[in-house]
Amino acid sequence: MRIFDPHIHMTSRTTDDYEAMRAAGVLAVVEPAFWLGQPRTSPASFYDYFDALLGWEPFRAAQFGVAHHCALALNPKEANDPRCTEVLEELPRYLVKDSVVAVGEIGYDSMTPAEDHALAAQLQLAADHGLPALVHTPHRDKLTGLRRTVDVVRESALDPERVLLDHLNETTVEAAKDAGCWLGFSVYPDTKMDEQRMVAILAEYGPERVLVNSAADWGRSDPLKTVRTGEAMLRAGFSDDDVDRVLWRNPVEFYGLGGRLDLGPAAAAGALHEGNSVLRGGE
Ligand SMILES: [Zn+2]
Repeated sequence: MRIFDPHIHMTSRTTDDYEAMRAAGVLAVVEPAFWLGQPRTSPASFYDYFDALLGWEPFRAAQFGVAHHCALALNPKEANDPRCTEVLEELPRYLVKDSVVAVGEIGYDSMTPAEDHALAAQLQLAADHGLPALVHTPHRDKLTGLRRTVDVVRESALDPERVLLDHLNETTVEAAKDAGCWLGFSVYPDTKMDEQRMVAILAEYGPERVLVNSAADWGRSDPLKTVRTGEAMLRAGFSDDDVDRVLWRNPVEFYGLGGRLDLGPAAAAGALHEGNSVLRGGE
């Protein structure tokens, strides 16, 4: 099984996770920019984070044979904080970097006017930079949030075929599919989607344009949920080709839309990133 996790926050994970992921077949990831679990107090905090997603984290991933790419954005939650919104003006200088394969994650958290503005502005930035967009859909009041997201996408300059609507479930999949967007599902250990529900959705709606991610972060989550979903698909009678389509070819196709996805051999293990190795102790 070859796996591309299209949404995972590796900055919050350990090297043990990278090892286990690579051993299970996770060869590539996209890490979208999100919030830290506590508020950032200035735009500079975002820029250091973006630089880490562009520099240190891909280097760390390469030590374990995982190709790391990122999606950058002002996240929906912090779009509400006036201390942070200046990030929208600075994003263009980051979106031109080679390993940025999408704008994200953008979307709605509480569906405020500030979130409306940030979502529309960043869909425009995606269109301007020839990038697709990773759009987080709200965890509360999901169908209302999904419909409002689709309305904003329709009014934007970005084609729905370049938009991935993420964190979908049984209540939102149909509207997202009807909108012509790519369909993202986050599989978690004990909340939201699980493997069995994911398999049932695939049986009903088919594997076209479906992406499955672990969305693993600093909360309770499991970076191997992509693998577990592939195993559950096989047990349910899906073919190896179906699994490869959902877990590899679909994310490659979606993130390839920006023309920057590079799955060539990751940087040689053992090299240094600006003088630092992940192997501490002088190795
Ligand atoms: Zn996320």
